[in-house]
Amino acid sequence: MANALEKTDLPLSQKLGHAMNRVQVAMRADSWESFGQRGLNPTQGQILILLSQRAVGQRLNEIANELAVSSPTVSDSVATLIEKGYVKKSKAKDDARAVAVRLTSAGKRLVEQLDSVGGTIQSVLSSLPESEQIQLYRTMLRMVRELQVTGKIPMGRMCVTCRYFRPNVHKDSKRPHHCALVDVAFGDRTLRSDCPEHEVADEHLAAQNWESFAACSSGR
Ligand code: SF4
Repeated sequence: MANALEKTDLPLSQKLGHAMNRVQVAMRADSWESFGQRGLNPTQGQILILLSQRAVGQRLNEIANELAVSSPTVSDSVATLIEKGYVKKSKAKDDARAVAVRLTSAGKRLVEQLDSVGGTIQSVLSSLPESEQIQLYRTMLRMVRELQVTGKIPMGRMCVTCRYFRPNVHKDSKRPHHCALVDVAFGDRTLRSDCPEHEVADEHLAAQNWESFAACSSGR
């Protein structure tokens, strides 16, 4: 029978939501601090980091979609970044009539500095035992994937949605997965969350892969 404390307890999912809100407060403060030191607001900083991961550049609507912010916000931020000399607009590689935003050399140098900023959250995460970090990473990937399939956030370039991903096909418990593109085995800690070689799996393969990946819950 539940005791007095347990009877008034909140659902675990609600407490997890509260805890994530607290973490989000720290992350927001962290990003204001690290980007602010370089004269950027968080959206401008996130645009630079996104562009550093997209060598071919991004159109304004793609940036808005990826960062889940409005088109006017992206336009204003990109205009400011152009003024500061960190990005430039040029023809998109796949369509000469379209315009893509790319990093300038100064922008690339700045992103290297941003990447070297550890941040409060990163140092807290680093302090966790590796097994907890891997398990947490796996849980986060599951949450991100759920948010993607329900249309809350855009599809990302994660292994779990990639046509080259073969989950749990090897007996080696440290490296049970396989990347068919580079033909190597790997474990959960090496799962990519934003892989440039990612290609979206068709619906059938994606569902089959997810079932196999999610069936095994331990982090490796
Ligand atoms: S190509 Fe990239 S995203 Fe796809 S399985 Fe290989 S490492 Fe993962």
